[in-house]
Amino acid sequence: MKHMKTVLILEHEEQVFDKLSCDICGAESNGDENWANKDFEHAISTVQLEERVSYPDGGHAKDITFNICPSCFKSKLVPWLQTQGAQPTISEADW
Ligand SMILES: [Zn+2]
Repeated sequence: MKHMKTVLILEHEEQVFDKLSCDICGAESNGDENWANKDFEHAISTVQLEERVSYPDGGHAKDITFNICPSCFKSKLVPWLQTQGAQPTISEADW
């Protein structure tokens, strides 16, 4: 006799994070949020506004994000911000 049993076979699709693309030039990150192309290098850029409002019965959040590659960050965003009077805060570390 051939006995049968019921099994649950999960098959589904979902969106998972893959990589970033630069909102200016279209360059793609290296498979995650790291824009660096070489081993042992790490380059993350963040241009984001996060706004949160809390109410007695809940709240509201709004995030505005630009994904900008390091090249456009340095060659386009920084010079433009400097024309607006802003100066970057630069910190460095060695280990
Ligand atoms: Zn770019």
